[in-house]
Amino acid sequence: MAVVEVRGLRKVFDGGRARRRGSHGRVNAVDGVDLATSEGEYLVLLGPSGCGKTTLLRTIAGLEQPTDGEIWIGGHVVNELPPRARRVAMVFQSYALYPHKTVRANIVFPLKAQGIDKTERAKKTEWAAELLGIGPLLDRRPRQLSGGERQRVALARALVREPSVFLLDEPLSNLDAKLRASARDELKRFQRRVRTTTIYVTHDQVEAMGLGDRIAVMYEGRLRQLGPPVEVYDDPADTFVATFLGSPPMNLVPRDGVLVGFRPEHLLPETLVHGDDRLVVPFQVDRVEHLSGDRHLYGTVRGLGAETRVIARLPVTVTAPVEPGEEHQFAVHADRLRFFDAD
Ligand code: ADP
Ligand code: MG
Repeated sequence: MAVVEVRGLRKVFDGGRARRRGSHGRVNAVDGVDLATSEGEYLVLLGPSGCGKTTLLRTIAGLEQPTDGEIWIGGHVVNELPPRARRVAMVFQSYALYPHKTVRANIVFPLKAQGIDKTERAKKTEWAAELLGIGPLLDRRPRQLSGGERQRVALARALVREPSVFLLDEPLSNLDAKLRASARDELKRFQRRVRTTTIYVTHDQVEAMGLGDRIAVMYEGRLRQLGPPVEVYDDPADTFVATFLGSPPMNLVPRDGVLVGFRPEHLLPETLVHGDDRLVVPFQVDRVEHLSGDRHLYGTVRGLGAETRVIARLPVTVTAPVEPGEEHQFAVHADRLRFFDAD
């Protein structure tokens, strides 16, 4: 176990394939990030494709040299250390298993590279296989495994090195939705058992909300917010975070030079929002979707300046009839309102 910290981390690529370019076609992939995990934490790095997540992870692993800044692992600056000496294990999106080797040979490979003797290698392989429930698969080859089993093999291969840090780069993105849910649960239970500090990268906010002790939200190479899932969801630092988390996303209504934000689940028929301290809005509903029991209402609100499209999410317990084409009095309790700069 170890704390990972980056200070003032920047990574500039010369040329490259990105949209985000500075002068001379350079890409600020990581643009001044300060971030520290706590001991044994499961930290989720969340952000859209291209925001710099993989680059940040690869820099921590030592697979990229930072342009600027320091990387600390377990209380030491590791900038000058080669990847192997950093005691981190990175699991890639593709799992990167050797297709022609058996599961056993895949797992044992990093131990051979470390020069560990044969008896010890066998012992560690058995231990990791047992922990991940893949003992019966040791003599198969990767193509004879399901996606979830391959993921477990990749984890076992990372685990045998007894790393002090796990870096996981979208490890579930190749699995179908059903398998992803069970693999996510399995990963979380696994980390609770081994308590190894983990940085888990994803662009999927549902994964992030479910897995993270804390979520670090990244956008355009910068850290926008870091906090427990509930905090990031309830009190987003800016409109990017507000709309990136939550499905449907937070409503943003311009008013008097600010943006008033409220979650779809907090926009309810007026009769259900008690007290004087509330915002009442006439809601012109034009479409209703039924999703896992909830009703999602799409439409526009007036009386807040310009007409703005919003979404309300009514739980299955709210049975009030709401027909498309009608205007209804809806309200949001004042405690649920958030305010952002309208820039
Ligand atoms: P993410 O993992 O969040 O999708 P990446 O870290 O892969 O983002 O990429 C961040 C930015 O850096 C992107 O604009 C990407 O095109 C660019 N980039 C990543 N790797 C390289 C590279 N080796 N050379 C040039 N540009 C790169
Ligand atoms: Mg990536």
